[in-house]
Amino acid sequence: MQLDQRVEGYKEEIIKSTQEIISFKSLKDKPEKGMPFGKAINDTLLYFLGLAESMGFKTKNVDGYAGHVEYGEGEDIIGVLVHLDVVPEGDGWTYPPYSGHIADNRIYGRGIIDDKGPAISVLYALKAIKDSGFKLGKRIRIIAGLDEESGWACMKHYFEKEEKPVAGFSPDADFPIINSEMGILIFSMEKDFEPYDGDGVTVESIGGGNRPNMVPDFCEAVLISSDAKALEAAAERLTAFAGQTGYNMQSEMGNGRLTIKSYGVSAHGSTPEKGQNAIAQMIDFLNGISIEGEGVREYIRVLAQKIGFETDGKSLGIDLEDEISGKLVFNLGQMELDQNHGKVVINIRYPIKYEGDFVLAGLSKALEGTGIVIPDDVYDQAPLYVPEDNFMIKQLKEVYEEVTGEEAKLISIGGGTYARAIDNAVAFGPLLPGRPELAHEKNEYMNIDDLMTITKIYAKAMYSLSL
Ligand SMILES: [Zn+2]
Repeated sequence: MQLDQRVEGYKEEIIKSTQEIISFKSLKDKPEKGMPFGKAINDTLLYFLGLAESMGFKTKNVDGYAGHVEYGEGEDIIGVLVHLDVVPEGDGWTYPPYSGHIADNRIYGRGIIDDKGPAISVLYALKAIKDSGFKLGKRIRIIAGLDEESGWACMKHYFEKEEKPVAGFSPDADFPIINSEMGILIFSMEKDFEPYDGDGVTVESIGGGNRPNMVPDFCEAVLISSDAKALEAAAERLTAFAGQTGYNMQSEMGNGRLTIKSYGVSAHGSTPEKGQNAIAQMIDFLNGISIEGEGVREYIRVLAQKIGFETDGKSLGIDLEDEISGKLVFNLGQMELDQNHGKVVINIRYPIKYEGDFVLAGLSKALEGTGIVIPDDVYDQAPLYVPEDNFMIKQLKEVYEEVTGEEAKLISIGGGTYARAIDNAVAFGPLLPGRPELAHEKNEYMNIDDLMTITKIYAKAMYSLSL
């Protein structure tokens, strides 16, 4: 029997298992003994490994951090990397988020796309290979992580204990094939200053943004002065500034303080040009009025001149680019400032041909003489790139084109997918082209026909990679 006919024969079981795994509310929770991410996530892993055992597979639970399902013989391992944790469901669902409710030939539920539906899909794909009695030259290992959504501690622990696959894929993003992911840097740019103690207008505090990898949609600054007239003048300047620029900014006077609120538009840090940065608006305004206190004034001036609204790092001299990734992506995500210290948090995505240290060296040079420093606790995730002539890319392309009848284009992205947890891996599905991007959104669903299609793709992909 052909692999896809075999997959078709499991349809009812695939639907049932998908609904069952969605019923676990697998949110990260307080650790318990042997359950580093809490009981619900652990129960989900036990369910997944139990299902695999009932199909006759060998499984292993690696200290409650992750688990795997293995099939085949051979020295090398092909890794298929999924995760069983989910992000909170949020509000506004049409059907209960952990019900696996079926309507319009769709299964609804938190995690159906990201990433519990694909986990069930690859498990049945492996079953199809096993039930066909195919002999494999490599072992296939489905590795189920439990902490993808909040820090990847699962993979760190797992690979301290277990063998590394020679290649593989992760069904945790988009089809056709994502073979290029930019490097990611997260760091802060900070400066200490002397508090100003005169009568003029100075900044008491600034706060904005929640996460480095989001365009901030809100920023608030408090200006103080013992001279009420000077504060009123600043308020008038703000009204005029908002009128001229069209930025959504307002102010409010009270207790000798002028509180300024800046509203922007949020967007993901990999596409900052789609948002409107509320912190950048605030800096733009403050740089245009006379702020007292040399330290804070200079800090704001440098941020305005060297960052401003730019999303490519041009004025900082780091506007790198290559033909695969395109341009470097720069996002000013957070700001915290008081009368002694200023800090902004930056998220950069750099092209695959460069190294994080090269970008940081460029930044340090641009900041020379400004008193602004980049503390050492820089987060640097190296780029991922698997070239087009790699054996795995060729085979995944072939399988994708055979099942869908469409061209398997290679995709380059700024974001980071779970594929980075293994060497020589790519993101491969589960979202077919043209389907809505519902990961982390309300009413997350997958069409049942798509669930079957991706299972056929995965069965053929795992088989051809393991020959
Ligand atoms: Zn995911």
